[in-house]
Amino acid sequence: MCAFKRLFTGVTLWTWRRSRWISRHGKAVFSSCKPKVCVVGSGPAGFYTAQHLIKGRHDVEVDIYERLPVPFGLVRFGVAPDHPEVKNVINTFTQTAKHARCNFYGNVDVGKDVSVQELQQAYHAVILSYGAEGNRRMGIPGEDLAGVYSAKDFVGWYNGLPSCRELSPNLSCETAVILGQGNVALDVARILLSPTDILKNTDITQPALEALMESKVRRVLIVGRRGPLQIACTIKELREMVTLPGTRPEMMPADFEGVLEALPDLPRPRKRLTELMLKAAVKLPLEEEQERRRKSSRSWGLRFFRSPVLVLPSPDGTRTAGIRLAVNKLQGSGEAARAVLTGNVEDVTCGLVISSIGYKSLLIDPSVPFDSGKAIVPNQMGRVQQSPGLYCSGWLKTGPTGVIATTLNNSFDTARSLMEDMDAGKLDTSAAKSGSQSIRKLLETRGVKPVIFSDWEKIDDVEMRMGESVGKPREKLLTVEKMLQVAWE
Ligand code: FAD
Repeated sequence: MCAFKRLFTGVTLWTWRRSRWISRHGKAVFSSCKPKVCVVGSGPAGFYTAQHLIKGRHDVEVDIYERLPVPFGLVRFGVAPDHPEVKNVINTFTQTAKHARCNFYGNVDVGKDVSVQELQQAYHAVILSYGAEGNRRMGIPGEDLAGVYSAKDFVGWYNGLPSCRELSPNLSCETAVILGQGNVALDVARILLSPTDILKNTDITQPALEALMESKVRRVLIVGRRGPLQIACTIKELREMVTLPGTRPEMMPADFEGVLEALPDLPRPRKRLTELMLKAAVKLPLEEEQERRRKSSRSWGLRFFRSPVLVLPSPDGTRTAGIRLAVNKLQGSGEAARAVLTGNVEDVTCGLVISSIGYKSLLIDPSVPFDSGKAIVPNQMGRVQQSPGLYCSGWLKTGPTGVIATTLNNSFDTARSLMEDMDAGKLDTSAAKSGSQSIRKLLETRGVKPVIFSDWEKIDDVEMRMGESVGKPREKLLTVEKMLQVAWE
């Protein structure tokens, strides 16, 4: 029995009801000394870590703090609108959020509205799961010209991320070049080229849908530093490109030299991926497919062995007119092969450049250890180095790679580390902690009003109803102000 509980036993008649001490007058008086944990960030990492803790221990209470008024992180603002099945994880997250031992506090920017140290004082443990909200820059001249965007912002724009609302990308050019060949690059290419008749039934934002309806982009080149055997996308995303209605692949067969011969020795997933690429690039298709390709007015192509060196400006110097690519060759083979320059360059005329070379985590609070080289919080199995009581999960822990299932695994690992520390007495839970009670008071003095889960449900309801009226699963609210207005009306 903890000291706090002992002190009050016998003084007043206390009953244990749900997770709080309640006086016989039915009023919550103070929080118990049950382990109180808070999670920063409500993306998959935040929710999966919370879920595993709640399932793993009958006593732990978890509060989730989120910067935006709406939960679910990249499931809402990253996953492509035409991948609704991926978003089904929201149902599991909602169950967690509604659990009696879980609370959601949106509209709280940790590092700004409340510090990590303040959270550590109020909770037995703090788990940082705030993802990777920065983007890697290409570091080439011309990168800041109009017409150059990061995939992070472009994706945020079509998915309704409030900070990307004003992006209004110029889609009046014929050719777009995407730098990077991961799944995010393929998502962007697919959205640029998809028939809007398909997109109009998704939760893509209305301004993005309208811009895409007017888009003049007919050709998308997806550029990678290395070769077909090193491409970073997965087969599902590539197959979606190969079968995208109204489009034809436009590859350079020379890029595939020696690939057929390498096929038998490849591990199975890469083998299947490579076979699909070869089918699109070099094999003569069946008559029906040839006919489909002939009728297609749009094209996409993977360009290998190319690195960006310069964004070429328009004659008046105001916007992008093309990109200069250095031609590479490979040193070594397989996954470990390195791209080295040949000294040759090639210019591609284009009006739109989208760099999809990776997200990166940012430091939100100077008190948190941060490895700025790797852009992660240094940790061992989710335990932040030299910071007892501080943990991390998700992309902040591993770097921005992997799908939601990968994030699930690494988040469960972090939850396990935390529970092991509790069991081993390495995490002191003997003294009662104030948890959200004191944090909410602190936030109130700072003029910050959290959005609780039932507030989010009001936003959810409004968005679904707005969507229903135009045949979409949801029409997202696009500004924080509008979200807050709906949440609190
Ligand atoms: P996030 O999802 O980014 O969540 C972090 C949360 O922290 C956000 O809600 C953010 O608002 C919040 N936050 C940030 N800063 C603060 C702060 N200071 N205070 C409080 N809260 C804060 N995976 C799939 O399986 N299928 C897909 O189709 C797929 N598509 C993807 C498409 C894109 C464009 C991207 C980028 C990723 C995609 N993924 C997909 C991968 C998947 O989204 C990630 O694995 C997962 O979202 C990582 O989870 P996370 O919780 O670490 O980060």
